[in-house]
Order: sequence, then C-alpha cells, then structure tokens
Amino acid sequence: MLQSQLFTKTRKEAPKDEVTTNAQLLIRAGFVHKEMAGSYSYLPLGRRVLLQIESIVRDEMDRIGGQEVRMATLQPSEPWKQTGAWDKVDVIFKINSRTEKEYTIGQSAEEIVTPIAQEYVRSYKDLPVAVYQIGQKYRDELRAKSGIMRGREFSMKDMYSFHETQEDFDRFYAIAKEAYLKVYKRCGLVAKVTEASGGSFTEKLSYEFMVLTGAGEDDILYCDACSYCVNAEITKQQEADACTRCNKGTLARAKASEVGNIFDLGIKYPKDFGFTYKNKEGEDAYPIMGCFGIGITRLMGVIAEALSDDGGLVWPESVAPYRVHLISLATDDLEVSSTANLLYDALLDLGVDVLYDERKGVSAGEKFNDSDLIGIPLRVIVSKKTLAEGKFEIKHRASGESEWVSREDLLARFV
Ligand code: ATP
Ligand code: MG
Repeated sequence: MLQSQLFTKTRKEAPKDEVTTNAQLLIRAGFVHKEMAGSYSYLPLGRRVLLQIESIVRDEMDRIGGQEVRMATLQPSEPWKQTGAWDKVDVIFKINSRTEKEYTIGQSAEEIVTPIAQEYVRSYKDLPVAVYQIGQKYRDELRAKSGIMRGREFSMKDMYSFHETQEDFDRFYAIAKEAYLKVYKRCGLVAKVTEASGGSFTEKLSYEFMVLTGAGEDDILYCDACSYCVNAEITKQQEADACTRCNKGTLARAKASEVGNIFDLGIKYPKDFGFTYKNKEGEDAYPIMGCFGIGITRLMGVIAEALSDDGGLVWPESVAPYRVHLISLATDDLEVSSTANLLYDALLDLGVDVLYDERKGVSAGEKFNDSDLIGIPLRVIVSKKTLAEGKFEIKHRASGESEWVSREDLLARFV
C-alpha cells in the first residue's frame, strides 16, 4: 500500500472527550473514527487489524470443531419474549417497525441459535455440536467511555455448544479454555481465567478471561504464584490474602479487561423453547448448552492499551495491519526512490504486507513519528546512506533496536 494513497492521515490531537489511550492512539493514527460514544467506524488500518484478530479466532474455533455461521442481526422480538429476556435484559435495543412489529438487533444470539439447533439436533448422535459467528453486536450500554473497549456497537465472536451431559460440557469447556488462551497468546497478550461459581441460586457458571490493563473496567484478585484469579466483585477474599489454591502465593489486586467469557447455560434455553432430543435410552432429554464469547473489538482495544508506548501503537506481528513499514527518505533522489521501489516490489512478490511511505515533501522526522504512531512491527529505511553502505537500516518497533542488513539478508527473512 502506498502511503500517499492511504485513505487516512495521522493527526496530532485526539478528540478532547476521549480519555482512554486506546481511543486516543487509534484515532490519531487513523485506525478508527468516532461516530458517537460507543460507536466507531473502522478505517483501512483498523479493519486490517480486525481481520487479523478474526482470523486467529476463526482458526482456533475451527480447530476445536466450531462451525462458522452468520445468524441474523435483525431479529424478531418473539423468541426474546419467550425466554423472558425482552423485559429482563436492560441492554436490548428495541425497534418499532412502521408495520407495528417489534424487532431487536442482536446483543447476543441464544434466542436465535436455540430454535435453529432444535431443527437439526434430533438424537444423541447429533451431539455434541458447536456453532459460532463473528460479527456486530448492539447493546444499550449506559457508560461507553472506554474507547473501543466498550461499544454500543462492537464485534464479538459468539459460539454456542450443545451437549448430552454435564461431563461432556466440562470436557468441551476445558478444550475451549485452552483455545481461548491460545487466541490471547497469539494476539500478544497474557490472559488470566477467573473461575467463579455462580452460586446456588443460579445454574450459571461463568469463566472470565481477563487481561491486566489499567484501562480495564474489572477489578480482579490474582495469585502471584499460581494461575488462580477471581473477580473482586464476587468474592469475600481480599488483597494480600493467602492463595487458597496453591497455599504459596498471596493475592494481588489489579484492573483488568474481560476479553472473553464462557457461560454454562445449563438447560435454560432448550427448556424455554421445548428443545429436546432422544437420548441413548430413547427418552426425550434437554441438551446442556454453553455460550462462549470473545470481544473482538475489545481485544483490539486491549492490545492498543497494553502494548503501546509514548510514541504510539505497537502491534505484535500477528495482528499488525502491515508487517513492514518501508520508508523512503530523499524521495527526490532518483536512485533512492528506485531502490525503494524495487525493494517494495520484491517484498510484495514474497507475499509480505507492506505500507510504503513514498510521500514527497514530508520530512524524515514526520515520517518516523507517523511510523511510531501507526506501530507496524518492522521499519525498513531507504536513504542516501543505503546507497553508500549497500545496506538497509531496519528498526524493530517494539524494542527500538535497529540493525543494518543487506538486501539479500532482508528478503531472506520473509522467504
Ligand atoms: P461486560 O461485563 O464487560 O459488560 P459481558 O459479561 O456483558 O461483558 P458477554 O455478554 O459475556 O460480556 O460478551 C462476551 C464478550 O464480549 C465479553 O467478554 C467482552 O470481551 C465482549 N463485550 C461485551 N460487551 C462489550 C461491549 N459493550 N463492547 C465491547 N466488547 C464487549
Ligand atoms: Mg455487559
């Protein structure tokens, strides 16, 4: 991509009402555009990051047997009334049509997926089964001040699974948990899992995946010696208490952001819709249902928060909008620009995603500042010095380290 043609430009100032680092940096670098609190448009750079995150999530969900679907976002009110959610769930957007029908736009999809599964799951032989989708969700959130980490419109991966027994749900949960941890790791993050019991009044068990960040809206307590982690809201435990799991560490308190969530829904939804299957004994039974969410746009916000520095965004290679930021200095010099053009073509031939800053009349300082702000992992600089040395200067965004490499060595990194 030629930077002179890029749809967006960087800007020096973020809107005054944006208080979080993720929104400030993403807006300044041209990844997103704010429409109103909690509603953002994703511009070319931002869309590319989302696509990368989506493909990591898709890969891990496919691996554990999830089948991708795309359920309707515009939904009838009836199934939501049938489960009681229409009156109980406060974040539901309710839409009146001119034909006096009521609709909602999806805030989640239990009410849609359960009747669909009911059509196809007839016998124990059809279980277990898991379907997922990646797409927009809409919630009438009261406070949306965390940039893209809390949207009224946001992107989520939501998976729903159906099982014969609790044991089978537990088996699948353990597999999904590992897949979730892989997703976060591949995105350059470390997530902790809270395993909170919903208590005896509810059949719901929920597991939250938390990434430590000051911009998070959750308070957690976590053990400094083992993987134990708990949401501070639900627990009687306190900071500096001894860890009851490993008996070695003590609990530390931190702000965290919930980047994923798994619910054991029991048989609530199958019951609400009268969804039974024939079990091995030939009797009608309700399947056990699980719901597995990952906040795709929140994840992007958390990466922006957790991995940025004073200069701007710092994308891990796995989710970066481009892998290489090729910067040509001295663009008036024919030899420099043709060397840069040739390198650009050679990288494209190797299938490398490159943002090529070939802009004329922009100072080296401005180009470097923009490059720091945008946060592409590897910067390759072509200058008069390149011609003199016969080498390219490359700089790693995350570590700030730079080195001089020959054209062959540079290209060899991408073969
Ligand atoms: P929260 O407590 O943060 O409101 P939730 O428990 O309502 O989250 P779920 O309904 O379980 O969230 O949704 C699954 C995932 O979707 C969450 O773990 C989170 O990563 C993401 N998510 C939820 N609400 C939002 C939102 N308003 N904006 C962006 N991401 C969200
Ligand atoms: Mg919520």
